[in-house]
Amino acid sequence: MRGLKDKVALVTGGASGIGLAISKRLAEEGMAVGVMDLNKDAAAAAVEEIRAAGGKADFEVVDISNYEAVKAAVASIESKLGPTWTLVNNAGWDTPTAFLKTTPDFWQKIVNINYLGPIHMTHAVVTGMAQRGGGRVVFIASDAGRVGSSGEVVYSGCKGATISFAKALAREVARNNVLLNCVCPGPTNTPAMDAFVGTGEQGEKIRNAMVRGVPLGRIGEPDDYPGLVAFLASDDASFMTGQTVSISGGLTMHG
Ligand code: NAD
Repeated sequence: MRGLKDKVALVTGGASGIGLAISKRLAEEGMAVGVMDLNKDAAAAAVEEIRAAGGKADFEVVDISNYEAVKAAVASIESKLGPTWTLVNNAGWDTPTAFLKTTPDFWQKIVNINYLGPIHMTHAVVTGMAQRGGGRVVFIASDAGRVGSSGEVVYSGCKGATISFAKALAREVARNNVLLNCVCPGPTNTPAMDAFVGTGEQGEKIRNAMVRGVPLGRIGEPDDYPGLVAFLASDDASFMTGQTVSISGGLTMHG
């Protein structure tokens, strides 16, 4: 991809699943990668893996739902790697629960991580991007945010809101050459998916039901997403902003 070498990318939730695959790919493209994750051991392991492959990376332990912690973590990683060119808002969390059984504490937790988290991170980097004359923000949203996912009602709302947030901010900062786009995965084989569907016979049944709904006949793998993220961070995507692209095996098809 053009224009990525030696630029800095921050990847929230970059220590696991889709985020880890994105962190590794952006490092392979020559970017210096800041892994921003709640899980210290996993973040350290991700950085070690990237460095062992010849890439440049560092990490910060941060809870994206805490704005003050986010500001401090961004300042710290930028002091080590340099100013952020690309932010990948990937970290997210949910646990399947029928909406009628959920409580205000649960809604607040889901909103804090999945909706406010990306807002906190974006706010912490976007002023610097605008002042420096450009930057990219990629949101790993979800097809749940486009069509809804049963058992993930509040999470689906957060992902839909993230898509609208990205579009609105894309308008506001377009003349500063800060471009924002969303990538929407479908069901994907990650540790989150294992926790979501469970393991054993019951988990297998749920996975098979998911596969039956996907035209391409499989669920996603973490490596299905980093190519588009690298493109969106690159010079090749310099006329693309405010867009939402699904990578979900044809599960949803949008005009
Ligand atoms: P994962 O659980 O494998 O990895 C998530 C990472 O985010 C973990 O390293 C975790 O420590 C980190 N994290 C969680 N909460 C955090 C917080 N508050 N602050 C900082 N880091 C935090 O998840 P995944 O399946 O790779 O999901 C990545 C993204 O893709 C999420 O936004 C998720 O909503 C989205 N997504 C996943 C699927 C799927 O089926 N796996 C489908 C659609 C969208």
